[in-house]
Amino acid sequence: MTGATKLAETLVREHDLPDEGLAALIETRDGESRRILGEAAGALAREIYGRKVFIRGLIEFTNYCKNDCLYCGIRRGNRKAERYRLAEGEILGCCEEGYRLGFRTFVLQGGEDPYFTDGRLCAVTAAIRERFPDCAITLSCGERSRESYRRLKEAGADRYLLRHETASKAHYQKLHPPEMSWDNRVQCLFTLRELGYQVGCGMMVGSPYQKTEDLVADLRFIQKLRPHMVGIGPFLAHKDTPFRGQENGTVELTLYLLSIIRLMNPRVLLPATTALGTAMAGGREEGILHGANVIMPNLSPPSARDKYMLYDNKLRSGAEAAENIAALRENLRKIGYEIAVDRGDSLVEG
Ligand code: SAH
Repeated sequence: MTGATKLAETLVREHDLPDEGLAALIETRDGESRRILGEAAGALAREIYGRKVFIRGLIEFTNYCKNDCLYCGIRRGNRKAERYRLAEGEILGCCEEGYRLGFRTFVLQGGEDPYFTDGRLCAVTAAIRERFPDCAITLSCGERSRESYRRLKEAGADRYLLRHETASKAHYQKLHPPEMSWDNRVQCLFTLRELGYQVGCGMMVGSPYQKTEDLVADLRFIQKLRPHMVGIGPFLAHKDTPFRGQENGTVELTLYLLSIIRLMNPRVLLPATTALGTAMAGGREEGILHGANVIMPNLSPPSARDKYMLYDNKLRSGAEAAENIAALRENLRKIGYEIAVDRGDSLVEG
C-alpha cells in the first residue's frame, strides 16, 4: 500500500486530513488513490442526493467587463472580444425557453458590466422572480457592494456564485492586475453568506503558478466559508490573454479534487463544469461519477454563446446546449443517473 492509498482511505473514513496529509494526497496521487477517492465520493454523493443530477440554465447576459483578470477571455484588455449584452426581454426569453425545457434554476452570469447598475439588475431579477415564482434565481456577476447584494436579494435573487479563484493572496496577485483585491473578493463571499444567499465559491485547477499548498489553502477556505456550492474546473488558456500558451489544468487533477471536496463537504453542491467537459469529451459525466451532482447547460442565445469565450474552444453545442437536454439526459442515463426537474436546493444548512 502506498502513502497515497493510506491517506485516501483515511480521508474516506474521517472526511478530513491534516494539511500535510492533504498535500501528500495531492502530490503523490496514483491510480489506486484515484480509484479509492473517486468511488467513495461518487457513492457519498449518491447517498445524499441519490442518482439525480440537478440542472441549472446558464444565461451569459453580458461579456462587457471592467476587470482585467489575466486568465479570462472577456477581460477588458482583450480588444478582439466582440462585446454584447442582452436586453431584459432577451433574458426573460431565455428563462421562458429554459422553463419549458425543465429548468427551475436560472443563473445569470456575466462580466462586471457597469451598465448593469443596481437599478437595472434589480429590475431584471424582479421580472424573473415575478414571472417564475417557483424557480431559483442565481446571480454570478462579480464583486459588488454589500448594499447592492442586499438590494438584489430583496429583488428576488436566492443564490450567488463568486469563485474565490484561489485562497492564497500571493497566488491571487499573480492571476490578477494590481487594482484587484483578494481581500475584497473574500469579503464579498462572507457578506453574501451573511445576507442569506446560498453561495458558491470555487477555483480553477492548474492555473498558472498554482502550487499544491495553494490547493490545500483552497480546501481549508471551503471548510471555513461552508458554501452551498463549489465550482471547480481546469484552467484553460485563452489565446488573446496574457496567459496564452500556458499549460492547461488537467482533467485528472480536477476529478481528483472534485472527489476530495465531496468527501470533505458531503452535502455541498458540486457542478461538473463546462471547462471539464471542454477539456475532455465525457468529462462532465466523469465528474458526476467522481462526486459531482450538478450540471449547468447553456441557455444563452446562440449569438451570445460564441462571444462568451472565457477560454479557447469553450463547449457550446451538443449536450452542453440547454435545447439538447435530451442528449444530456441520454448521456446521464448511460451512467445510471437522471435529471431532476426541481430547484435543487443545497442541503448545506445556514
Ligand atoms: N464576472 C463573474 C463571472 C466570471 S466567469 C465573476 O467575477 O464571478 C466565471 C468563471 O470562469 C470565473 O470565476 C473563472 O473561475 C472561470 N474562468 C475564467 N477564465 C477561465 C479560463 N481561462 N479557464 C478556466 N476557467 C476560467
